[in-house]
Amino acid sequence: MTNLVLFGPPGSGKGTQAAFLIEKYNLIHISTGDLFRYEMSNDTSLGQEAKAYMAKGELVPDSVTIGMLRNKVEKHPDAQGFIFDGFPRTIPQAEALDALLISMGTEVSGLLSLDVGEAEIVQRILKRGETSGRSDDNDEVTVRKRIAVYKSETAPVFDHYALTHKSHSVNGLGTVEEIAGRLSEAVDALRKH
Ligand code: AMP
Repeated sequence: MTNLVLFGPPGSGKGTQAAFLIEKYNLIHISTGDLFRYEMSNDTSLGQEAKAYMAKGELVPDSVTIGMLRNKVEKHPDAQGFIFDGFPRTIPQAEALDALLISMGTEVSGLLSLDVGEAEIVQRILKRGETSGRSDDNDEVTVRKRIAVYKSETAPVFDHYALTHKSHSVNGLGTVEEIAGRLSEAVDALRKH
């Protein structure tokens, strides 16, 4: 299996690039942000629970997020691999993902981090907010909060996978095609091992 963690701050292009990678490598895309938005749009109890955290730019608690992720993975027993987009975002989430994949006889193949500077991502997210309908993209205070949470809680996940030499940085600036090309090179190198 090829199991990729697509990593990087909010607005770094994870969703856009995931769409390309799933096609090329025949992987299942799991975006916890998309799953929460789906639950919210259906007004489920999970959606209601996540809503307040998301609106403030905070993380939904690990217990809720990990349970949702596990359910989703278990729905695809025949998958050739997964792209995790926006997950794991904390060390406990990374540990839970590692344990889940081990129980399936597999592991994270690699973490690919899209490097984009803070000024650029704030501009990108506010621009996306003009059309995405996401309230957490519209308000600069919330956007900056999400970036602060990324730095304090999520960035350590890069170091977690670096311990086993699985973390790789990819330049996230350029055209969609240029970035996709860089990611493909990184994925092909991972799959050779
Ligand atoms: P995203 O679409 O990945 O930018 O996620 C939007 C929001 O959903 C985040 O700001 C969090 O509130 C919540 N969220 C998404 N993924 C996670 C996660 N792995 N852990 C906790 N909260 C998450």
